Amino acid sequence: MPKAHGYAAQSAESPLAPFSFERRDPRPDDVAIEILYCGVCHTDIHFAQNDWGATVFPVVPGHEIIGRVTATGSDVTGFKAGDLVGVGCMVDSCRHCQPCEDGLEQYCLEGMTATYNGQDRHDGSVTYGGYSDSVVVSEHFVVRVPEGLDPAAAAPLLCAGITTYSPLRHYGVKPGDKVGVIGMGGLGHMGVKFAKALGAEVTIFTRSESKIGEARKQGADHVVISTDADQMKAAAETFDFLLDTVPVPHDLNPYLATLKYDGTHILVGLLDPVEPALMAANLVTKRRVLAGSLIGGMPETQEVLDFCAEHGISCDIEMLDIHNINEAYERMKKGDVKYRFVIDMATLKDTAA
Ligand SMILES: [Zn+2]
Ligand SMILES: [Zn+2]
Repeated sequence: MPKAHGYAAQSAESPLAPFSFERRDPRPDDVAIEILYCGVCHTDIHFAQNDWGATVFPVVPGHEIIGRVTATGSDVTGFKAGDLVGVGCMVDSCRHCQPCEDGLEQYCLEGMTATYNGQDRHDGSVTYGGYSDSVVVSEHFVVRVPEGLDPAAAAPLLCAGITTYSPLRHYGVKPGDKVGVIGMGGLGHMGVKFAKALGAEVTIFTRSESKIGEARKQGADHVVISTDADQMKAAAETFDFLLDTVPVPHDLNPYLATLKYDGTHILVGLLDPVEPALMAANLVTKRRVLAGSLIGGMPETQEVLDFCAEHGISCDIEMLDIHNINEAYERMKKGDVKYRFVIDMATLKDTAA
C-alpha cells in the first residue's frame, strides 16, 4: 500500500506531530490525490482534543483538501492525472438511500463516512484526513477546482464555504432579501460574501465594536452590535433570514425578534443544547422558523466552487507552515485568524516521522 506522511494527534493531551501511515491502493472508483493545501477547521481541534468523546487515535485531521490527481482507478471517468481537485468533509455514503439519491449525501440514512475519524465502508479502517501528503477517495466525493480559483484560498470552501452557501441556496436567498449574519469568523465572513453575491442586503451581528471596520471590509451593508440592546431593538422585525454561525450556546431570543414574520433563523455552527431556553412565542407569534443545516451534498459542493470562480469569491486565508499547526490551534481558540489557516503541504516535506 502507498506510504503516506502527515501530522497526527496520538492522544487528547498530545500535540499534533509527524506521523507515517498507509493509504489504500486505489479501488476501481478511486482517485489518488497529492495534497497541496488543507484548511484548518475548528472541528479539527475538537477531534484532536477529543472534545466530543468520539475520537479514535491517532487522528489525522483535515477536511478542506485541495490537491492534484496522481492516479485513477479503472472505472473513474471524471478525473485524470494532473487535475486540480478538492475533497471536503465526507468521502463516502451508502449511495442508495433517498438523501444519497437526492445528492444530499451528508444526510445519508446510514450516516456519511467522514474524511477523518470515519470508518471505511469496505474494510472498516479509520479514515485519515488532509494534514498529509496524499489521500485516496472515491470519485463521487471528489470535486473539480475550476480555473480562476486560487487553490489555497479554495480549500476552506470545502467546509466553511459549503456550510454557509448551502442553506442560503436551499432557502432561496434572492436579490432584495435582508440577511443577517451572526458571528464574524471563518463561516461568517463566507456567509457575508455569498449573501452579497446572491443580491441580498447584508447585516453583520457582532459582539464587538472593534469588528465594525472589518465587517464593512467584508462587504456588509450594516453592522449591529449584538450586545447593545438599543441596536437590537432598532433591528426588530427586519430580516428575512439569519445565518447563525456561532459555535457555542447563545441566546437566540433577541435574534429571533429581529426576523420578519415568516423569517428563518438558520443554525450552522451550533450542535449543543440551546441555552438559555428558546421562548416559543418568538416563533409562534410571527410564524418564524428555526432551522439547521449541515455542510452540503456533492453536487452543491461542486456548485459552490463554480459559483466562487464565477463571482470572484474566495476565503480570506493565512498560509500556515505545518510545523506551526499547534500554535495555530491556540490562535484559533482566541479567534486570532483572518479567517482561515491553510496548511501549505510543501512544508510537510522536511518533517520526519
Ligand atoms: Zn470543517
Ligand atoms: Zn445514503
